[in-house]
Amino acid sequence: MPELPEVETIRIGLAKYLPGKLVKSISCDWPKSLQANKADIKKNLIGRKIKSIDRRGKVLIIWLDNNWAMVIHLKMTGQLVYRPKPSSRPGLKDSKASSQKSPSALLRTNPFQGFGGGHPTNSLISKLPDRSTRVIIVFDKGSLYFNDQRKFGWIKLLPKDKVYQLDFFRKLGPEPLSKDFSYEVFKQSILKRPNSMIKPVIMDQSIIAGIGNIYADESLFLAKIHPSSRVKDISTQKFKALYNSIKKSLKIAIKHGGSTDRNYVNVKGQKGSYLEYAQVFRKENQPCPVCAGLIKKIRVASRGTYFCPKCQKLARKKK
Ligand SMILES: [Zn+2]
Repeated sequence: MPELPEVETIRIGLAKYLPGKLVKSISCDWPKSLQANKADIKKNLIGRKIKSIDRRGKVLIIWLDNNWAMVIHLKMTGQLVYRPKPSSRPGLKDSKASSQKSPSALLRTNPFQGFGGGHPTNSLISKLPDRSTRVIIVFDKGSLYFNDQRKFGWIKLLPKDKVYQLDFFRKLGPEPLSKDFSYEVFKQSILKRPNSMIKPVIMDQSIIAGIGNIYADESLFLAKIHPSSRVKDISTQKFKALYNSIKKSLKIAIKHGGSTDRNYVNVKGQKGSYLEYAQVFRKENQPCPVCAGLIKKIRVASRGTYFCPKCQKLARKKK
């Protein structure tokens, strides 16, 4: 499942290519992948131009010039791939041979232009459509492919007033990188669950939007908070540290997702930002970057959790 930085990286990528493009047609081979009726597609999507790309939590919103939007949730295995000119470039004849290479090996020899992001498979960098393609949006220049192996993702076509009425958005907590996300907002959100352990609280999408397992572990490490600490036992000083570390770890990940290879940043970016820049995530038995003690893996609220037992002591009850 992509987290906020991965979806934000896709937003940045699409924002370079899609605004101004005119929608010529849309096709779909799996009904749940495109949730829109034919009349709305004809009246409110075809012939419209893309205005801008927004993100809220892990969901992308592609705004049209008539105040309608395509709202996209990638779920487990979704990808969005923009190709300026599909199937017209050389280098596709040996697609059988190249499909056996890893996506990162293919990066260097990728014959396509454009952008792709999401679940890291060869579909990001090989000939499209393929078996995972669910929806194709054809523009006056180029096409956008929505690939989704496991078919949990979706695209909905909605008018502006319905977009933010979606159940998904109504239940969503504050956006951690928005200007409105002050320390007070953060503290009030967290304190809704005083008796819970801190890690599942910051991963609860109704408390804060967009944080999953990776950035929860990274933020708690930076703030020196044990992931099993009870919310009510954590000091004000540590709360402030956590507020800053959440924003910091998300920004670092977005920076690396956006600064890698010009094309297909996420194929590289996901591997890079997740693991190369993580300090504790999936670093079991490796030295802590702060104290050189060994990183441990435990389970917290049934999720695999990485932390440093020396740097992250369990918060004791406040007196
Ligand atoms: Zn340590």
